[in-house]
Amino acid sequence: MANLLLLVCTEPDGRLARPALETLTAAKALADALGFTSFTAGLVGEQVEAAAGEVANGGATRVLVVAGPEFAQPRYATDAAAAEALARASQADLILAPATSRWNRVLPGVTHRLGGRVDTHVTNLTVRDGAPAVTRWYYRQRLEAVLRRSHRPWVMLIDPGTHPAWVGTPGTARVEPVAVTLTDAHRRTTVVGCRKPPADAQTVRPDAELLFVTGAGWTKKQPDGQVHSAEAETIIGDFLNLTGASLGSSKSLVDLGGEGQAVLPFLTHLNQIGQTGATPRHPKGLATCCHGEEPHAVGWRFVNDRRAVNLDANCGWARGKADVLYVADAFAVMRQVNELLAQP
Ligand SMILES: Cc1cc2nc3c(=O)[nH]c(=O)nc-3n(C[C@H](O)[C@H](O)[C@H](O)COP(=O)(O)OP(=O)(O)OC[C@H]3O[C@@H](n4cnc5c(N)ncnc54)[C@H](O)[C@@H]3O)c2cc1C
Repeated sequence: MANLLLLVCTEPDGRLARPALETLTAAKALADALGFTSFTAGLVGEQVEAAAGEVANGGATRVLVVAGPEFAQPRYATDAAAAEALARASQADLILAPATSRWNRVLPGVTHRLGGRVDTHVTNLTVRDGAPAVTRWYYRQRLEAVLRRSHRPWVMLIDPGTHPAWVGTPGTARVEPVAVTLTDAHRRTTVVGCRKPPADAQTVRPDAELLFVTGAGWTKKQPDGQVHSAEAETIIGDFLNLTGASLGSSKSLVDLGGEGQAVLPFLTHLNQIGQTGATPRHPKGLATCCHGEEPHAVGWRFVNDRRAVNLDANCGWARGKADVLYVADAFAVMRQVNELLAQP
């Protein structure tokens, strides 16, 4: 029978982060669908005991670990060495890992070392004729394909947000340490610190309930013949602070910001949604002053409930791209929404 390995790294507190718990759900479901009586978990991190309990509760019967301070920080050389050692120790044919930036960077190279094949951005796992099949999107989320492979080992990176996170009371598991010999070459890169913007300046929030999209209309001349960029900035900033929504943008608006124009200084290309931007997964989305053209709306593929506010009843959202289109002035609407949200 084939072996399945769940490959995850632990957080500083020794537990698993949400993407790892989601991949645990996926691994358990795939193992069950394939009729496996067990699967193996491979853990990488400084502390692994708590995570070992979580994966044991999630159905892993064997827990292999590469643990220690050397494996706390994401670093290609040590992460790759750990992943390779765990893959070899488990003799796995199927290897599932969360598609985090850490594993996305490392696992294609590890797969090459193992002589295997890798699929990134996997959004679903099924079983067809007794064999696993992965679903992934192509051409900027326009085409969905289901693939099977006969080559093994097969590494599958599961996109965060595509599976529910595993929930359960952590159990106890017997862990089997796997030795990794590190040389100076592995330690050539050291992480000396972490610089990140303050929490309130961080407007891309993947876990938010709502995606709030701003379009170029916020910076265009309004019915009074004037632009109102400063007011737009206040309205949007207040809304984000009041709701904790994630901020998305059309390409036109982030491009304006890139040209140094004084519009919405907190927008960068990281906020761009669409064909040449991001395809986030939020339960709800609200587009404002954004036309809803296809190259933008294609980035809304995974947003379930879509609404838009636009002055133009003929805008792109009206053509089947939004569930609800409010034909209204977004300045007036959002001003009032903020007033309502600010009420005690
Ligand atoms: C190869 C290619 C790739 C692209 N990739 C992307 C991409 O990844 N993402 C992306 O977004 N675009 C992309 N585009 C560009 C896309 O086609 C559109 O040009 C862009 O999305 C338009 O941005 P917008 O809707 O903000 O601006 P506009 O088209 O200028 O629309 C502004 C809207 O604001 C409305 N408005 C103005 N004032 C108000 C008000 N007070 N209240 C309510 N509504 C108001 C107007 O009615 C109008 O509909 C791409 C284009 C190409 C060719």
